[in-house]
Amino acid sequence: MRRMSWLTCGLSLTIASMAAVAYAQSRGAAGAVLYSGARLIIGDSSAPLENGAFVVVNGRITAIGRSGAVTAPAGATRVDLAGKTVMPAMINVHVHIGYEGYTSWGAENYTPQNVLDHLQREAFYGVAVTQSVGSSPTEASIQFQRDQEAGKFAPASRFMFMPGMAPPNGGPDAILLKGTSVLKVVYEVSTPDEARAAVRTMAARQLKSVKIWVDDRRGTYPKMTPEVYTAIIAEAHAHQMLVHAHAIAMADQKAVVRAGADVLVHTVQNEKLDDELLALLRERTPYWTTVIGLGDRSEVCDNDPFVDQTYPAKTLAEIRASTSCGAVSPNAANREAILAANLPQYVAAGARLVLGTDTGITPRHAFGWADHHELSRWVTSGITPTQAIIAATSRPAELLGLKDMGTLAAGKRADFIVLTANPLENIRNTREISAVYLDGARLDREALLARWKRSNSIQ
Ligand SMILES: [Zn+2]
Repeated sequence: MRRMSWLTCGLSLTIASMAAVAYAQSRGAAGAVLYSGARLIIGDSSAPLENGAFVVVNGRITAIGRSGAVTAPAGATRVDLAGKTVMPAMINVHVHIGYEGYTSWGAENYTPQNVLDHLQREAFYGVAVTQSVGSSPTEASIQFQRDQEAGKFAPASRFMFMPGMAPPNGGPDAILLKGTSVLKVVYEVSTPDEARAAVRTMAARQLKSVKIWVDDRRGTYPKMTPEVYTAIIAEAHAHQMLVHAHAIAMADQKAVVRAGADVLVHTVQNEKLDDELLALLRERTPYWTTVIGLGDRSEVCDNDPFVDQTYPAKTLAEIRASTSCGAVSPNAANREAILAANLPQYVAAGARLVLGTDTGITPRHAFGWADHHELSRWVTSGITPTQAIIAATSRPAELLGLKDMGTLAAGKRADFIVLTANPLENIRNTREISAVYLDGARLDREALLARWKRSNSIQ
C-alpha cells in the first residue's frame, strides 16, 4: 500500500505551531526605506493610488499614502519609483513542487535543494508564497518549513503544503501517481473511519488543509465515494482544517460544494454551468482555483523571452518538439468559448477565485512564469485585470490565513513587485518586472538568472 508509514510512527512528535513556522520567516532588511512616485495597486478592491509612497521598516510597511503625505523616518533611504507601478507579490495556492528536474521528473529529484530551487523560481517571477497541494511528503515538508523559518535557505517564495487523500490506486494522474508513490505522499482511504483517522493524524501535526481527489478522471480511476469525502470534510472542519477538492465534472463539483468543500480545484471544461451549480456557488461561495493554463505552451512555442530566460534550452527544444506549436486543435475554439462563458459566471455567482497553476505536476512545467500566464488567461476569458490581481494577492492571503500579506497596507509584510508598466491597462504587464521585494529586501534576480544560465548550459 502507498499509505504513509508515518501513520504509525512519529505521532508522539508535536510541533509548537506550524502556523508560526509558515508565517514567521524573516527575510527583512533593517533600516527605513521610503519608496515614492509609483502607482500603487493595493491588491484589494480599492482604487490604485497614483503617485503613491510607502515606508518599509524591518521588512514591514509602516505607512502608505500619496507622495508628500507620507513622512519617512529620519535617515531613511529614498527610492524614486516615478513612472513605475507597484503591486503586492503574488500567492500561488496550487502547485506540485519538488519533482521537476529539467532532465528528469520524479521522486529522485525531491530534495530540499530542488524544492528551494522551485521556490526561488516562483520568487523570481514575483510570487511570495507557494503552496504545494497533495504531493509533498509530510515530514520532509515540515522540516523544510522549519528550516526556511530558521533562515537556513536563501531568499525564496515561502513554502506551504498540504497532504493528499484518495481512494486506493486512485487520485493523481498516472504521471503524478508514479512520481510520488515512492515517497508515499498520498493517504489512501477506503472507508469513512479510515478517512477520519487520517484527518486526525494530519490535525495532530498542526496541518491546516488537505487535498482530496474526488473524480474518476473520465472513468479511468476509482472515484472517492460521497460517504468518504463527507467524512473527510466533517472531520477536517472539526479540526479547523480546509478541504481542497479536485473535481472536474459538473456533477462532482456540485456534490463537493454541497458537502462543504472549501476550495474547488479545476473548472468544468466541457459543458456550460447550469443553474443548480450557480445557485450552489451563490449559497456556499467556495474558493476556486482554475489551473486552466497548464497544458498551454503558447509562450514556449512563441519563444517568449519572459519564459525562455529561466528554462534550460534543452527543455525548451523538447517542449517545442513534443507540442504541436502552431497547430490549432479542432476543439480549441469550442473549449475557449465554454471557458469564456463559464469563468465569469463562476466569479459572478460568488466563487472566490484564487491563483493556482498546477505547475510541476508533469515534466517540463517550470515554476514561476505560469502564474502570469494564468492571470492573462483569466482576463482573456472575461474577468477584469483588477479581479485577476485580487485573485492573485489578497484573496489567496485570506484563504491561507496570511493576515499580514496580500495587500499594500500599513502593518503588512513588504512583499511587492515593481513593474515598468501598468497591469490594470493590460494584464500582461505583470510580466514587466523591474524588481521583486520579499520582506522588504530586494531579491537578487540577476544572480538567480546567472545561476540558472550556468546550470542550463551544461544540460
Ligand atoms: Zn494539482
